[in-house]
Amino acid sequence: MSQYDPRTSTGIPTEPVGSLPRPTTLQAAYAAYDKGEISKAQLEGEQEEAVKDSVQRFEATGSPIISDGEQRWSSFATYPITDTLAGTGLAPMLGPGGQFFAIFADGHGRQLPRLERGPFEYRHYAAESLAKSIPYANRPMKQAVIAPSMLDLLYPLKEPVDGYSREDFEAAIVDECERDIRKAFEAGAARVSVDFTEGRLATREDPRNPWTGAGLLPHFIELNNRVMARFTAEERVNIGIHTCPGGDRDSVHSADVPYNNLLPEMFKINAGYFLIQLASERDRDPVYQSISENLRDDAEGVAQMAYIGTCVTQSPRPESAQEICDQLVRAANFIDRQRIGSTDDCGFSPFSIDEKPNHGSPDYARDVAFQKITNRVTGTRMAAEKLGVS
Ligand SMILES: [Zn+2]
Repeated sequence: MSQYDPRTSTGIPTEPVGSLPRPTTLQAAYAAYDKGEISKAQLEGEQEEAVKDSVQRFEATGSPIISDGEQRWSSFATYPITDTLAGTGLAPMLGPGGQFFAIFADGHGRQLPRLERGPFEYRHYAAESLAKSIPYANRPMKQAVIAPSMLDLLYPLKEPVDGYSREDFEAAIVDECERDIRKAFEAGAARVSVDFTEGRLATREDPRNPWTGAGLLPHFIELNNRVMARFTAEERVNIGIHTCPGGDRDSVHSADVPYNNLLPEMFKINAGYFLIQLASERDRDPVYQSISENLRDDAEGVAQMAYIGTCVTQSPRPESAQEICDQLVRAANFIDRQRIGSTDDCGFSPFSIDEKPNHGSPDYARDVAFQKITNRVTGTRMAAEKLGVS
């Protein structure tokens, strides 16, 4: 495939974050596989059907770049280390009972496995799924990968792992993230974005979840920059960072954390572009302002781009194309219009098992997601016309 130009079809670039709700039948297949009622081949058959449907419907939205909806993944964070959220296919150096990655506003939590011994390595790379999905696609595909800062939470916060130092572990996760990104490009990804949802959460100071009070944000930035340093400026133009306050069961984990705890730090990551949750912010103008102040003209050779989240992924109400256009035009009052893109606030369903309670069902949530994406594409084109960006 020739070099992807994100401006070609919409003027202002537009790109999804990555995930889509898994169909009810696929979620049932995951549960049946965990119970031993169906084989791995049967689960993979259901995943394949869901990917085909996702790619086809994604292309019908008109989006210039699509994803496979992460239908084969246990979650955005755990795809390298486990086949299902219940722990079937867990990597051998891990065990149950790790830290909570997040406790969400509705009270539910998502717990990570725990590193029991070294050395750490991925069982699966994102490219394995992409390589299977790309033959179904007629448009460029993006690939999301997980940040080293998320996997850093596999290492217990206080006590060391026997015979495996945190330093050795962190060297391994930086190597693996680099490999994950490179393999995705080799498999044909036009763009790769790194999911960094733990960034905003890192300043939450939630007493129920000790790592969020441990002052880890600067360390997280450093880990991500160790990965970025492995890539040339030319490569980093197409490597993004995604930030959000989380999204699971239509609930969030850090929407109440001031965005400015994160944003000035986040843009220190030498990535080429950022996919930034924004539509669900109560007060958007200060966020646009902060982006304009902190977006860097020269991030080690790259002028950073800010992709503005224009669709609320927890809400079943599709934003109209006009609303999306208005958000982008408003953003351009603060941010250089040539440096603006559009995106969704988050993946539409980062975890494989997600009943999407605000939507009533995951199948309906899929319909809503495609409608939102369709409107985002149209609204982005309208904003580009209005702003004279081509
Ligand atoms: Zn997100």
